[in-house]
Amino acid sequence: MAKENFPLIFERSQEGRTSYNLPALDVPEVDLEEEITDGYVRKVDAELPEVDELELMRHYTGLSNRNYGILSGFYPLGSCTMKYNPVINEDVARLPGFSHIHPYQDTSTVQGALEMMYDLQVHLEEITGMHEISLQPAAGSQGEWTSLMMIKAFHESNGDFDRDEVIVPDSAHGTNPASATIAGFKTIEVKSNDKGLVDVEDLKRVVNDKTAALMLTNPNTLGLFETEITEMAEIVHGVGGKLFYDGANLNAIMGYSRPGDMGFDAVHLNLHKTFTGPHGGGGPGSGPIGVSKELAPFLPKPVVREKDGVYDFNYDLPQSIGNVKSYYGNFGIYLRAYTYIRTMGAEGLKRVSEYAVLNANYLMRNLEKEYELPFTQHCKHEFVLSGSKQKEKGVRTSDIAKRLIDNNIHPPTVYFPLIVDEAMMIEPTETESKETLDNFISVMNEINKEAEENPDVVLDAPHNATVGRLDETQAARKPVLRYQKED
Ligand SMILES: *Cc1c(COP(=O)(O)O)cnc(C)c1O
Repeated sequence: MAKENFPLIFERSQEGRTSYNLPALDVPEVDLEEEITDGYVRKVDAELPEVDELELMRHYTGLSNRNYGILSGFYPLGSCTMKYNPVINEDVARLPGFSHIHPYQDTSTVQGALEMMYDLQVHLEEITGMHEISLQPAAGSQGEWTSLMMIKAFHESNGDFDRDEVIVPDSAHGTNPASATIAGFKTIEVKSNDKGLVDVEDLKRVVNDKTAALMLTNPNTLGLFETEITEMAEIVHGVGGKLFYDGANLNAIMGYSRPGDMGFDAVHLNLHKTFTGPHGGGGPGSGPIGVSKELAPFLPKPVVREKDGVYDFNYDLPQSIGNVKSYYGNFGIYLRAYTYIRTMGAEGLKRVSEYAVLNANYLMRNLEKEYELPFTQHCKHEFVLSGSKQKEKGVRTSDIAKRLIDNNIHPPTVYFPLIVDEAMMIEPTETESKETLDNFISVMNEINKEAEENPDVVLDAPHNATVGRLDETQAARKPVLRYQKED
C-alpha cells in the first residue's frame, strides 16, 4: 500500500455540504426543546463533518484500503487460522428469516433458527466426539473460562472444594492461564521436553489431589501433536482432575482425531477460526464448548432442545452455571459456521485438515533451509521457526515481520510461543494456493539475503505502509479512538 495523502473526514469538511437526501416529513413537526423536557435533547449541535457523498465514500474506501485482511493477501498468522471466509456464508446470514428475528420472539415463530442451532450442536458433537454442546460463549477465551467454571461446579458438587490448581503447559496460548486465573484457580506450569511436547514426567510431578484440571492444546502451539495424550489423560484422571482441550486449532485434525476420543472432558472451538467466521477486526467471535456426559448438567442455560420435531430452550437445569452471554450467543456466526459445515460435508472437512497440514509442512521444509527450525518432526497445521540465525546478523524477528509488510504479506505471529527464541509462528491454512506459498518462501529467502547484504533495508521497514513502526505498548494502553484536531 502506497503512502497516501489521506485527509480524514473532518479535514474534508466544508460548511453546508451534505450527503443525505431525506424524504419530506410525513408526521407533524415538533419543536424538540419545547416538547421534550427530560433533559436528553442536546442544546448545542454536535460538531459533525459536512461532506458530500463522494467525499464520504472516499473517506470510507480510504480507511478500508489502510486495513489488511485475508482478502488483501497472504495472512499466515499462527494460531489465528486466517482462512478464507466463503461468500455463501454471508448470503445465508442475510436471509431475512434469520436476520430479521428478535431474541424475545416466541419460539414457535423461530423454529428454523432453533433447528439450525440444534443441528449445529449435533454436527459439533460429531466433530469433537463430545456428549453435549453449548453454543453460548462469545470467544475461545470465554469458552475456556466457561469450561473451567463447569469443572469447578462439578468438583464442588462432589464436595471437592480444595481443587484450586489448573495445570497449563509452558507452550500454551496466553488465554489459558488468564482463563484459569479469572475462574479463580492457581496456574501450575508443566514443562515441554526437547521435542516440543508436554514432558510426561514433569506432569506426573505436578499433579496431585489439588489438581482441578489440565488445559491442553493438541496439536499444541508449536503445531505438534501430543502423541502421549492418552497417558496424560490417565495421569490427570488418576488424581481426580479433569481434562480441558483448547480446540481453537481444530483445523489440523477434523475427521482424523477427536478430543472426546482422546479422553477430554471439555473442549472449546473457535467458530471464527476453523469454521470461517470472519475475524481480525471483522468479528464478533463464537467459542462453543463441548462436554462429557458427567459435565453436561453444569452447561450454561438455556440449551436448545428438540422434542417430536419441535424446538425450544431448556431453562430447567438446576446445576447450570448460569447464562454466560446475553441471549443465545452470537447467532450470526452460528449461521456462517453451519453453512460452512454443510457446504463442506464430512469428507470436505477431512480434506480441509489434510490440506492445512500439507501446506504447513510444505512451507516448513522449504523455510528450514535458511531459518532455524527448533522442532524438526512433521508439523500439523502450523510450525514455529526461530529467527536466531538472522539475529546474529543484527536483524531480529520483529524486523523480518515489518519487512514482510512491504511485500504485501501479513507477518506471522511473532515472539510466541515463549519457549522459542525469536519465534515466528506460521500457519498458512488450507485455502492458500501453491503459488502463494512459493511466493512466501521466496520473499522469506529474499529477506534473509537482505539481512546479510543490506540489513538497513530490513531494519527500516516497512517502507510502503501508511504507518511505520508503532509504539505498540502505547497503542494498546492509550488508544486514540476519535478524531483529534491538530492545532
Ligand atoms: C485464538 C486462540 C485462543 C483464544 O480464542 P479467542 O476467540 O481469541 O478468545 C485460545 N487458544 C488458542 C490456541 C488460540 O489460537
